[in-house]
Amino acid sequence: MQETATTNKHTSEELIEMELQFGAHNYHPLPAVLSKGEGVYVWDVEGKKYFDFLAAYSAVNQGHCHPKILKALVDQAATLTLTSRAFHNDILGPYEEYITHYFGYDKVLPMNTGVEAVETALKLCRKWAYKVKGIEENKAKIIFVEGNFHGRTLGVISASVDPTAREDYGPYMPGYIIVPYNDLNALEKAMEDPDVCGFIVEPIQGEAGVVVPDDHYLTEVRRMCSEKNVLFIADEVQTGIARTGKLLASCGDCECSNGCENKYATRPDILILGKALSGGFFPVSAVLADDDIMLCIKPGEHGSTFGGNPLGSAVAIAALKVIEDENLVEKSKNMGVLFRKNMQQLVEHYDLFELVRGKGLLNAVVINDSPDSKTAYNFCLKLAENGLLAKPTHGNIIRFAPPLIIDSRQMTEACNIIKRTLDEFEK
Ligand code: PLP
Repeated sequence: MQETATTNKHTSEELIEMELQFGAHNYHPLPAVLSKGEGVYVWDVEGKKYFDFLAAYSAVNQGHCHPKILKALVDQAATLTLTSRAFHNDILGPYEEYITHYFGYDKVLPMNTGVEAVETALKLCRKWAYKVKGIEENKAKIIFVEGNFHGRTLGVISASVDPTAREDYGPYMPGYIIVPYNDLNALEKAMEDPDVCGFIVEPIQGEAGVVVPDDHYLTEVRRMCSEKNVLFIADEVQTGIARTGKLLASCGDCECSNGCENKYATRPDILILGKALSGGFFPVSAVLADDDIMLCIKPGEHGSTFGGNPLGSAVAIAALKVIEDENLVEKSKNMGVLFRKNMQQLVEHYDLFELVRGKGLLNAVVINDSPDSKTAYNFCLKLAENGLLAKPTHGNIIRFAPPLIIDSRQMTEACNIIKRTLDEFEK
């Protein structure tokens, strides 16, 4: 691969050492220090070029430094960046109109990070429980699933079953019920409790290792939620915005590429988006719902200084336009098929690869070793040496999720790197 010159003053080693010395130790990154990104590629400070097969956990669906999103950011940054919601601004309304039409909901509540949007959805659900469903004060319950990942706040990790995310952060938020993922019987049983007001789920579990539920899971979830007057909340922070070969992973079997004007069989009552809503430029997240739910929150009852800021609004419009203009739903679907076909061949020929799974360009390979092993991490180190960045989720699962703009030549080249790494690793 072509290498580029670099003007950085520090070596990778020095920069890693600085992070260790001056930064909190709440992450354990792979030792690649990146200083430039363009499209599907990133470069480290020594000028080595890599395929980015993490895409910032699916925030960079549109590719690194997409010129149209960059232009929207720069233009807006030179004009007006932040007003707070104490005043109106001239781009929030157009953004709200654009995103609600795009995804087919009456209203949007803009926030910044993914977890803030999740918290917003949980608060909205509780408000609805008291104002509309008529649940007695402080009795509302929300159902989560095992293996969930919705972010890092106390309200959210209270529902986590992952000890690393949860331990020593108690006391935890009450009012949660946890059921196994992809288990309709358990969900049905939990919904018998009349104080249940919501069910929150990732349509495909990303952080858990790209766990795809059975075909009719979401259709049944939708049916059961409607039957029991429980809100179906889809956390599409990672799966949304074309990542899984559909605009939304919770979009049932629909083939639309631009929102759900019709009330589809799996349409969530509350939709949570983040990450790629800004194409990775900075945090922009959103909660979408119809009026009967969204208007339960009244002025002053929820907010954020930066939520709905002009810069974020301009960037989000540009980021969503790129998805449409560049046909990224279709590309994600097609490139996903190519990736899984290539990986399936490797699964059949190499002991190290146990199985490949996923949809669109959200995929994972399960490594033939125990979840406590370091094999996936070590394999990712070798992949990086060979010019491809990917990150394990758990000790034996590697997620492969490149920007959706990847073309078939690049995908074939990337798959060849994975094959070559397997050859070297198995020796
Ligand atoms: N929800 C899901 C499904 C996620 O994957 C993530 C992050 O990975 C979040 C919420 C939290 O998003 P953020 O890190 O922007 O707070």
